[in-house]
Amino acid sequence: MTALPRRRAAVQTVAGLVADGLVQAEDAPVLERVAQDFRLRLTAPMRQAAGGSAAVARQFVPTAEELVSRPDDLFDPIGDDVHAPVPGLTHRYPDRVILHVTKTCEVYCRFCFRRETVGDTGHLPQDQLDAALDYIRRTPAIWEVILTGGDPLVLSARRIAALVAQLSAIAHVGVIRLHTRVPVVAPERITDDLVAALRQHPSVWVVVHTNHADELTPEARDALTRLADAGVPLLSQSVLLRGVNDTVEALEHLFRALIRLRVKPYYLHHCDLARGAGHFRTTIAEGQALMAALRGRLSGTCLPTYVLDIPGGHGKVPIGPDHLHRDGDGWRVTDPNGGQHRYHDPGQS
Ligand SMILES: *Cc1c(COP(=O)(O)O)cnc(C)c1O
Ligand code: SF4
Repeated sequence: MTALPRRRAAVQTVAGLVADGLVQAEDAPVLERVAQDFRLRLTAPMRQAAGGSAAVARQFVPTAEELVSRPDDLFDPIGDDVHAPVPGLTHRYPDRVILHVTKTCEVYCRFCFRRETVGDTGHLPQDQLDAALDYIRRTPAIWEVILTGGDPLVLSARRIAALVAQLSAIAHVGVIRLHTRVPVVAPERITDDLVAALRQHPSVWVVVHTNHADELTPEARDALTRLADAGVPLLSQSVLLRGVNDTVEALEHLFRALIRLRVKPYYLHHCDLARGAGHFRTTIAEGQALMAALRGRLSGTCLPTYVLDIPGGHGKVPIGPDHLHRDGDGWRVTDPNGGQHRYHDPGQS
């Protein structure tokens, strides 16, 4: 195998993808239309990885399939706008809020559930950020602040430091959580300054979005190790994606790699109803079969919860597979090999 040329810059144009050999020249006109609708960007490491991995390429390289809208597709698939007390803040559950600190990302994923709103618009304007912080300050029920976007770690270490300092001054904020793809797709951003900015608060958790082990380049592994060594607890979230990670082997490989890196798989999301992302969607039954096959085969530490974000802003729920069913006055339990067992609850009359 010949070595791929080393990519040092991000690619943001269809012409750039043609030059990289990631798309065919004759497909360029239709992909230009896609790129007008849904922004395009691969960081240097993902550009490099896409050249050697179809699973990486499929996540970031646009295709004509994105122009296909299906009747069930939604503009705001997870209902971010349903529970927005002030701009940039989503307050769906009493004890936690989501603060959309920016709409910019390092990469633009072709299946993004916020694809209608992400883009290079920069960080939340200062007056809106101040209003959001004010809301958090005067709402003592808020125990956890989740920073997302876009991707919160596209902000400078200085800006993150200021934000974490402001949140740390609010006594009822016990936990700050960041949902980010940066440690994987732009690992050079995980600097000592950034780690120090996060460490200002005693309980900052980082949830890394990653969908395939091929994304975990040596640089990404180093970035995750820097965070873990600094004492930042790490979780992961993945999206179940047709043609990317919808096999037992792909998921097994990913989850084992993450646990070795001290990242606990947290959620496996069923693919949301984002417009033009239908070709990425599996059925729920397929997702349940994958999770059932992984149970017993992998350490419990490796297994995330398979969840559905109920369209319309009604929240996330685990969607199985179910191992427990009512059976007369007791239960029928399915073991990891599919065997069925009766269980009688001694406390139940
Ligand atoms: C996913 C989500 C959260 C966080 O949910 P957890 O289950 O605690 O990870 C919070 N608010 C909103 C609006 C969400 O969509
Ligand atoms: S990094 Fe997250 S928010 Fe940004 S495009 Fe990908 S899925 Fe969407």
